[in-house]
Formats: sequence, structure tokens, C-alpha cells
Amino acid sequence: MDSLELMNYYHVPQNCKKCSGTMIFKGVGEYQCENCGYVDYDDYGKVRLYIEEHKGATAVEIEAATGVTQRSIRRMLRESRLEIAEGSKIFMHCERCGKEIRSGRFCEECAVKVRKSQEELKREGLQKEKRGYGHSQNGEEGQRRFMRDRAQI
Ligand SMILES: [Zn+2]
Ligand SMILES: [Zn+2]
Repeated sequence: MDSLELMNYYHVPQNCKKCSGTMIFKGVGEYQCENCGYVDYDDYGKVRLYIEEHKGATAVEIEAATGVTQRSIRRMLRESRLEIAEGSKIFMHCERCGKEIRSGRFCEECAVKVRKSQEELKREGLQKEKRGYGHSQNGEEGQRRFMRDRAQI
């Protein structure tokens, strides 16, 4: 996703709802009108604010209160843009061992293992690429494999 798509995805406010002035980014999903000072939030800001005020909210409750879809909420969690508050009922599962995690895709233990194996695969791919240099078939195979591994990160 390029930055424009991302802006649409998170419904970044561009113009003030009150005076249609330009909204300036203030940080962590918060925007303020340069004309009248009206504060607005993108999806990330809305969800973050709601979780802060309602610790223990479920994804369903957050969706109902903020209008941000559960899909987006989970996506933000996966991208580690959002961390689940202590005592929250929303949780994610590690994709590798199923342990409950607060953000990202893997628990800390698995994250280390996954990173290691990805590095190994990458190294392997690079070596194959080097070895296959000059032999176009091997080279292409290595390249494809390398690309495939990259795509899974
Ligand atoms: Zn304004
Ligand atoms: Zn795990």
C-alpha cells in the first residue's frame, strides 16, 4: 500500500468538519484544524482513544463505538500499530504456537525463531542465486524462491 492508499484506508481527516480548514497531523492518529483548532482522529486514533478509555473493550464494542471495522482493528493489531491494553478482552493468537499475544503476528519466542528462519531462507536464496549465476535456469529458480520467501515476510 502506498501512503495515499493508507490514508484512505485509515480515513485520515483532510478537512475540518466545522470550517473545512486543513487538518494538521498532531501525532498518534490525532489531527487538528489549523483554522479553528477542531480536533479529529483517523481510524487508528479513534480505536486507540476508545481502548484507552474503555480498557477491556472487545473488538465488537470498538467497532460499534468507533465505526472502525473489526477487520481494520485486527489489521492495526497485526501491523503492531496498536497494542492491546492490559486487561483487554481482545487478543490475538500467535500464528505459530497459538499463544495469546498483544500485538503483531507472533509471540516473542516465535518471533525470534521466525526471524531466524527467515534470515536463513534469505541467505540460502542469496547463495543459490550466486551459485546459479551464469546458469540462467538455476538463477531463475533461486530468484523465484527468494521472491517467494520475501513475499511471506
Ligand atoms: Zn476548523
Ligand atoms: Zn508463539
